[in-house]
Amino acid sequence: MTEKKQPSLTKRIVTGMVAGIIVGTLLQQLMPNGSDFVIPLYFFDLSIRAFIVEGVLEVIGQVFISSLQMLVVPLVFVSLVCGTCSLRDTSKLGRIGGKAILLYLVTTAIAISFAISLALLISPGEGVNMTANTTFEAREAPSLAQVFIDMFPRNPFSAFAKGNMLQVIVFALLFGIAMALSGKPGERIASIFEDMNEVIMRLVGILMNIAPYGVFCLLAVLFTEVSLETFGNLLKYFFVVFFALLIHGLVTYPLLLKVLTGLNPVIFLKKMRDTIVFAFSTSSSNATLPVTLETVTKKMGVKNSIASFTVPLGATINMDGTAIMQGVATVFIAQVFNVDLTLSQFLMVILTATLASVGTAGVPGVGLIMLAMVLEQVGLPVEGIGLIIGVDRLLDMTRTAVNVTGDSMVSLIVGKSEQQFNEEVYLDEHAGSKVENIDFHHLRNGEKQ
Ligand code: ASP
Repeated sequence: MTEKKQPSLTKRIVTGMVAGIIVGTLLQQLMPNGSDFVIPLYFFDLSIRAFIVEGVLEVIGQVFISSLQMLVVPLVFVSLVCGTCSLRDTSKLGRIGGKAILLYLVTTAIAISFAISLALLISPGEGVNMTANTTFEAREAPSLAQVFIDMFPRNPFSAFAKGNMLQVIVFALLFGIAMALSGKPGERIASIFEDMNEVIMRLVGILMNIAPYGVFCLLAVLFTEVSLETFGNLLKYFFVVFFALLIHGLVTYPLLLKVLTGLNPVIFLKKMRDTIVFAFSTSSSNATLPVTLETVTKKMGVKNSIASFTVPLGATINMDGTAIMQGVATVFIAQVFNVDLTLSQFLMVILTATLASVGTAGVPGVGLIMLAMVLEQVGLPVEGIGLIIGVDRLLDMTRTAVNVTGDSMVSLIVGKSEQQFNEEVYLDEHAGSKVENIDFHHLRNGEKQ
């Protein structure tokens, strides 16, 4: 096969991102405040908003997100069954699960404690005079017991259909354990699952080809709406959250990685680039999951037996970026409403935010729903969310990027500590960066490959 001289996929995805932001911003200048720009043509008037923004760009962007989401349930189920089954000694599962969950919870608690301290130091809500213009209904926080009960699916097919990741994970683990214990029949099915895993990962690779266009369209549409004018009073809040996210992603994670594994964190951050751009443009850890899994296994060298478990688990229960936003938002809202929170209330915030993230899937905007639970726990008005909602979209993108970085880092730490990790792959700059070339020749010629 001839190697085409084209920029690497990462470069193309990053280019798509930057171009999308520029085009979206220009379109916004052309059509301020939701107006339209119409080009009169010979037969009809071409509306840029209807045809370009809500038409072409929106359609391609949504098709891109749907095709990523389409892969999530089959990918998690198949790769987790393979991973569990290949562990051989399934008693290791408890240890691996324990380590991963502990690391996820501890990093979230660190994130939110840091965010609260920073917000208290900078006081983004002091002197701010705002009234909430959006009403927000709080959902009741599920009890820990209920979260646990809900992890077990009554009907696995319903769990698949609803995309309930914790239930899919539990079913896949049990199925994988049973396969490992079933002797010959288990081995026969295992080989089918391994083949399916290969095929689905190949599909992920193929879809990566459209990523630069998908990312471009998503960001172009988004930036036709994001307006810096809505920032006003929220500028300080925005930058406190943003700064805390940067510190967590660029200082806390690299430090933890270095201390716990000795691995070079610069390599880690470089290898995260694609995944970060995906998270940034989709605002969903769940939709990014196929890419995170590919990065962690193919670029970083963590074995599938670990990554297939830790990555989906992280996408569901680990939301450090979200916790950071919630910490700052709680302090901000308390300051705007002139409420003094006590130390025990802050501890309550840390606890609720850490636990609320368990069982809430990584989809856009879910952080705000969880924030409602946190505010209720400490008696702050839930309408406070209406104050910050205006700048949440941009923060959602950034915190999702932090969320997936956390999932990958924990997977790497667990993989290394269990010796399920290939350091050569980690050190190889080009590992996993091959673009799948789609060659349909053999299909056209009716041949089998
Ligand atoms: N969008 C985030 C995620 O998917 C969750 C959130 O903070 O809203 O990870």
